Amino acid sequence: AEILELNATDIIKTLMASGSMVNINQEIDYETAAIVAAEFDLEVEAIEIEDVVSKILEEYDEEETGNEVLRPPVVTVMGHVDHGKTSLLDRIRKANVIAGEAGGITQHIGAYTVNIKKQAITFIDTPGHEAFTAMRSRGAQITDIAVLVVAADDGVMPQTIEAINHAKAAGVPILVAINKIDKPGANPDRVKQELTEYGLVVEEWGGETIAVLVSAKTGEGIDALLEMIILMAEVEELKADPTREARGTVIEAQVKRGKGPVASLLVQQGTLHVGDCILTGTTYGKIKAMIDDKGKRLKKAGPSTPVEISGLSDIPIAGDDFIVLENEKEARQLAEKRKDMQKGERQRRSNISLDDLFSQIQDGNIQDVNIIIKADVQGSIEAIKQSLEKLDNESVRINVIHGAVGAINETDVMLAATSNAIVIGFNVRPDKNAVKLAETEDVDIRLYRVIYDAVEDIKKAMEGMLAPEF
Ligand code: GDP
Repeated sequence: AEILELNATDIIKTLMASGSMVNINQEIDYETAAIVAAEFDLEVEAIEIEDVVSKILEEYDEEETGNEVLRPPVVTVMGHVDHGKTSLLDRIRKANVIAGEAGGITQHIGAYTVNIKKQAITFIDTPGHEAFTAMRSRGAQITDIAVLVVAADDGVMPQTIEAINHAKAAGVPILVAINKIDKPGANPDRVKQELTEYGLVVEEWGGETIAVLVSAKTGEGIDALLEMIILMAEVEELKADPTREARGTVIEAQVKRGKGPVASLLVQQGTLHVGDCILTGTTYGKIKAMIDDKGKRLKKAGPSTPVEISGLSDIPIAGDDFIVLENEKEARQLAEKRKDMQKGERQRRSNISLDDLFSQIQDGNIQDVNIIIKADVQGSIEAIKQSLEKLDNESVRINVIHGAVGAINETDVMLAATSNAIVIGFNVRPDKNAVKLAETEDVDIRLYRVIYDAVEDIKKAMEGMLAPEF
């Protein structure tokens, strides 16, 4: 009645006349609405709910505001286990509190902001490429710079390589932090040497990678590291318009006592206000309260600011985006429709598989075939990689985005799902979790014992001559 500018009772009367006994609060389905509208000589058009959301998003993207200003960089710390990721994050946070920002109690809200010479940097609190890629698999790209922590006494290790490849696959620039330089066995030059094998050549050796020597234990080099981050951010010219409605990503969510569902959001565009109505996934709500990482209550939060909000209907999912809608009713309706849709159909993203590679190439859907190689020995990875890269032709390029020794694990599958890649296992198998994830994420894993077979299969798939696998 509101939209049609009609009297509600007239609509109810019409409904009753056609046999639907309804009251004013009741929902009617599309068909019924269409019949009623026809009675009033009006036409009803059904719009898919995702179309409504994408329309909102499109309108947002298209708007040229001209109000863009520099925003703080968002940094994720990655690296091998025990190389000092957590220590580094703690050290950076603490150093900043001592620097005079005290007053509040540190709150773990999934990210925190530090100020260096009046410039802010936002750090994601969960280190590691697993979290990074899990977020990316939900479509969230929040990281501007990856700090790769490598222990100077240990050097490049398997997860260092994973981290490099995950950051590269995401197109995120890498800043190297060579950590633990206080240790007697520290050998930063060896680390630099090892990194060259993975395409990271430091500046002093003629490359483009910046490496900073640090100790999370003594604090040495931390300021230099932070200054480098600021410098890199300046080069990247990261911008956002703080005058628009907010948009961003959920970085964490949970139920807190006395608060109900709370979510940590990273504002990426615009400014988020208390009282804004947001929609994220199938969750919605009007923001009741907002705090920052120091526990300070905020009324608004601009670009690159992490905040914890309360007022949501449910716990949202980390990695989902959020948008601001006009009112709570609209947000609720969209959330409910999304829920219905999800019930109806388990949405499946179609990942690439060898079986449909050829048709995808023919349709012009892919120009790059991304491949992840896991093998029992390093030599095989190189051999397969080289043979595969020889298969490049005018229309298709083969990219080996990650290669490592060891069983196929969950992170490999996650990277494959995110990067639309095929996983090749050579004399190795996927572990149980990887198999499960590959099933839900629809990732093609192929196992081989002979290099020739692997290369032949991909060659045939590219030519559309692979016998289908049943
Ligand atoms: P993560 O697994 O990468 O998060 O590593 P942690 O931050 O948990 O650090 C692993 C171990 O290395 C801990 O025992 C830390 O105390 C130690 N550690 C971290 N950074 C340094 C450092 O700069 N110097 C020394 N000597 N020890 C460090």
